[in-house]
Amino acid sequence: MQYTEIMVRYGELSTKGKNRRNFIDSLGRNVRKALHDFPTLKVHADRDRMHISLNDEPATDVIERLKLVFGIQNFSPSIRVAQDMDEVYATAIEMMKAQFKPGMTFKVNTRRSDHHFEYDTNEINDMLGGKILENVDGIKVQMKQPDVIIRVEVRMNGIFLSSETIQGAGGLPVGTAGKGMLMLSGGIDSPVAGYLGMKRGVDMEMVHFFSPPYTSEQALAKAKQLASTLASYSGSVKFIQIPFTEIQEEIKEKVPEGYLMTVQRRLMMRLMDAVTRDRHGKAIFNGESLGQVASQTMDSMIAINDVTTLPVLRPVISMDKTEIIKIAENIDTYNLSIMPFEDCCTIFAPPAPKTHPKLDRSRSYEERIDVEGLMQRALDGIKISEIKPGEDYMNAQADVFAELL
Ligand code: ATP
Ligand code: MG
Repeated sequence: MQYTEIMVRYGELSTKGKNRRNFIDSLGRNVRKALHDFPTLKVHADRDRMHISLNDEPATDVIERLKLVFGIQNFSPSIRVAQDMDEVYATAIEMMKAQFKPGMTFKVNTRRSDHHFEYDTNEINDMLGGKILENVDGIKVQMKQPDVIIRVEVRMNGIFLSSETIQGAGGLPVGTAGKGMLMLSGGIDSPVAGYLGMKRGVDMEMVHFFSPPYTSEQALAKAKQLASTLASYSGSVKFIQIPFTEIQEEIKEKVPEGYLMTVQRRLMMRLMDAVTRDRHGKAIFNGESLGQVASQTMDSMIAINDVTTLPVLRPVISMDKTEIIKIAENIDTYNLSIMPFEDCCTIFAPPAPKTHPKLDRSRSYEERIDVEGLMQRALDGIKISEIKPGEDYMNAQADVFAELL
């Protein structure tokens, strides 16, 4: 079928009262951004629906992109015909025949915003239902839970027919919750935490700590590749890389082994606080899940959160690893995450970190290092880049390695 339009139903935002305009405008912007490379297509966001006129752009490609845009409950590819019942009959019959299987049931569901059209919704349901019964052999009408619902919308600019409802990504439009900073490692959990934050409307920037030469270029490329996958949900993301080598070396030298990890994390959190404030973010996101590893106990959180007053949000805090993995597989980050490039934390991890560090000790061990100087040099070494969906960092890296060999 040659679809002419996609009709988009909003998610939760329909109920958001006076913020509604803001939500609809953001969704409109995000949809335009997601579809920017289909030049002839037109997006029109109304109060309760969004209409995307395809103008001959390929429906299947547009549908795949729309599935990733947060704030969309579901959508229906549809065909526009003139306000003429014969055209409605012919198109609906063709639509029904295209998907008919023996024993199938259907009903017609009509909405009308053009109240001057000569037939009302009940008349249209009856007339069109009759024509379909006459023309599609073996089909039956069923009011409750039919296999197919033929939806008819009579609008001023034509009559729109659709029979398919495709599930959207749900959530809230990215940007409506403000800006947040994700601590993105190369692991399984933090990309999932980032996805879940973006799903609730956060415009997420990705912050990655790396420690050359202890961590490879490959590990950095992997974090960028994960950022590129997450960028599919917002059109593009900022990637902020912070050099962490000097800090880790100094901590390793001066802090007792049991507190290495806690003090490292405090420094990471201090840097997150500085970067977040500098870039006007409102919260720090990470991939911690309670009890999963030593640093993810409540005592550890007390000792680490101590250095910031910003909210530290942990979308996967209560999830089991298997639940996190399931989401990682769905959003296509899992296979990347399990690639074996070590990140900075694993390399400097002590064999037996304290699972219940004391706050006063964490503070006093931290005093043994030059917090201010170390932070300043790390902040001076920050690099920021823009990452888009579909970019390939892993293979670009492979080429560099191949050249070296
Ligand atoms: P993940 O699977 O996200 O790596 P994890 O279970 O390995 O998590 P940790 O290594 O304790 O847990 O890290 C906890 C969180 O700290 C991560 O989820 C991430 O948000 C953050 N983090 C760890 N390493 C880095 C890094 N190199 N750069 C940025 N953030 C990091
Ligand atoms: Mg990790």
